Amino acid sequence: AAADPVDNGDTTTYTFTEDDLMASYLATVNIAQYKVRTEIGTKTGIPISNYIEKGVPVSLFDAFANQDEILAMLIDRFGPYPYDEAGGIVPAAPFGFALETQTRPVYDKDMLAEVGDFVVVHELAHQWFGNSLSPQTWDQIWLNEGFATYAEVLWLEHTDGEAAAAGYIQTLYESEKDFTTPPGVINSGHSDDLFSSSVYYRGGLTLHALRNTVGDKTFFEIIKTYATQYAHSNVTTEDFITLAEEISGQSLDKLFDEWLYNDTLPELP
Ligand SMILES: [Zn+2]
Repeated sequence: AAADPVDNGDTTTYTFTEDDLMASYLATVNIAQYKVRTEIGTKTGIPISNYIEKGVPVSLFDAFANQDEILAMLIDRFGPYPYDEAGGIVPAAPFGFALETQTRPVYDKDMLAEVGDFVVVHELAHQWFGNSLSPQTWDQIWLNEGFATYAEVLWLEHTDGEAAAAGYIQTLYESEKDFTTPPGVINSGHSDDLFSSSVYYRGGLTLHALRNTVGDKTFFEIIKTYATQYAHSNVTTEDFITLAEEISGQSLDKLFDEWLYNDTLPELP
């Protein structure tokens, strides 16, 4: 929220406060002329504001058309949305990626146009996993990217059904087949491969392996409890494994060892 600007004569001072906890990399300041469209999500009741910089085609507002439905699907799977607002920002300058800045992710305009819903799903999922639940150390970033990637699978399952989602899982699996550095190990002691495909794809596959092992009902109970119990705090891989074992009543060390720490990509259970 912005306090009233203070007129200093030559300059004006704006003061913004964020009441929720926020990791420093999730703050964003975008200064330009933006077109703004605001709605109250009909399914979620969440105020959604989208910002598109002057010069970017306004047709890109269409890329945000499913945001309310995406949020509704994620709330159904993950539990309550952690913040009181949502939306997206599309600057005119190209930067080639998207980032899950808190409550207002920023999107590269070409990426948003090409990828559409999937990148929106990914950045919105980070509002839970990455933003509300922040990994205690960067070498556990699969807790961000694996979950956000798996949210893409859940969206495809929601819109196109189980067979389409299974096809997407297969694509992720094939792309990791010859990749031998597992997501729990790849960032140990350095940050050269922080955003390696391993933390995204094999991270997401780890969650799918868990789902296939414990079944849908228990899996989503684990995910929801994890997101709710650790909301607005730091998390570790061990927190997640401990909770998964508690809720499922199963010993899952072997599963997580194979998927997160062993070189060989396991068969999907
Ligand atoms: Zn991500």
